[in-house]
Amino acid sequence: MPLTLKPLLRLTLPLLVLALSFYALGKTPLINSNYLELLGLLPYMIFAVVLGLAHYFNRSRFFSAALLLTTAYWLIQSHLQTSLTELYPLYFYTALSLLLPLGLLFLAVLPERGLWNMHGILPLSITPLLVLMTYTASLQYSQQQLSDFTGFFAIKPYSGYVLSIYASLGFLVSLLLALVMLLIRNNEAEASFCACIILAYVTLAGFDQPLISSILFSACGLTLAIGLLRNSFEMAYRDDLTGLLGRRAFNEKIRGLGKQYSIAMMDVDHFKKFNDTHGHDVGDDVLKIVANHIAQVTGGGIPYRYGGEEFCVIFPGKKMKPCVPHLEAVREAIADYSISLRDKTTRPKNSKEGVTQRGKPTKKNTVSVTISIGVAEKTEHQTNPEQVLKAADKALYRAKQNGRNCLAR
Ligand code: GH3
Ligand code: MG
Ligand code: MG
Repeated sequence: MPLTLKPLLRLTLPLLVLALSFYALGKTPLINSNYLELLGLLPYMIFAVVLGLAHYFNRSRFFSAALLLTTAYWLIQSHLQTSLTELYPLYFYTALSLLLPLGLLFLAVLPERGLWNMHGILPLSITPLLVLMTYTASLQYSQQQLSDFTGFFAIKPYSGYVLSIYASLGFLVSLLLALVMLLIRNNEAEASFCACIILAYVTLAGFDQPLISSILFSACGLTLAIGLLRNSFEMAYRDDLTGLLGRRAFNEKIRGLGKQYSIAMMDVDHFKKFNDTHGHDVGDDVLKIVANHIAQVTGGGIPYRYGGEEFCVIFPGKKMKPCVPHLEAVREAIADYSISLRDKTTRPKNSKEGVTQRGKPTKKNTVSVTISIGVAEKTEHQTNPEQVLKAADKALYRAKQNGRNCLAR
């Protein structure tokens, strides 16, 4: 799949929360002192909600991030509310500033494999590790050892900047790698983690500002909650294999269509035979490629995976005729695309051979697939979406009759 910058759009809401929290930070002098205690508890309340939601939706990385950040916030509140010139607070601050970005990066890189199973242990282990390396270590090591540790990480890029150069680099590298993971995976979790890395950095870099940790850690909790909810929305509405919107989203969309619209039905040609020849896994990969082409449909079309190897494109507000060139472009792009296969018979026998052959598909294992398209529009005779869909389905049948790899209306 080609890498695009589109996943960065997922940063919009987290960045909005970030901007709002910076705005709130400027308003702290106006906060009535009666509310200060409540503000101090706010991150715990938000993280508790995130923990509950993450448990409910079985998302290990969100759960672990909430646990990690709650613990970090507790460390800040319980051990870091005095001057950083004292040894213990300085040790906690130094250890936290080094471990927090790495912990968040670790969660951004890990794949999501569910919470309450064996794989959930790995992301969850980050929090006990943080406690072990900060709180427990501070009890075990001598003052001299702690002082050596903080001394080693004391180099600052310039005077007046509290964070060490190592911690600053840790945050920068973590953010860049989390952004790369966001581009690769196009997932809400990575977008939330990017925002949390920025928020944790600003908290630690602007540590002397009153209430900064309460406000910015609350914002961390909010970005995690937003990511989690959007993630679950996508689970319900998006098809897992292709990433396109699924049947549920399609059914909701057609209910709200207006006076004018067209619907195209698409079906992969002879796909049963393709599966029988190349196997179901290769079939799945091909469906992803086909879906990726359909996702790039122009002319305002909204693509959906209707089910199996059938796809739909809705053109709201459009008559059928102007949709045809956009659909034909998709059909041609799919027919012209050669898919390189690595089937078992031509697969290299050892990994060294595999490395030399990588990226060099032979002509023998290149295949292509085609799709047929049926398109229909809303008319006086077919006024509701079900009728238009039925007409598109009939047109698709005609396209198949006409020899496939073509469009019928
Ligand atoms: P036609 O050109 O007439 O559409 O022929 P066809 O073989 O594509 O039609 P048919 O509807 O008989 O077969 C559809 C096949 O698509 C059956 C099934 O094996 C395959 N298929 C459906 N969903 C998936 C999927 O998610 N993954 C894979 N690999 N194959 C699928
Ligand atoms: Mg079919
Ligand atoms: Mg088919």
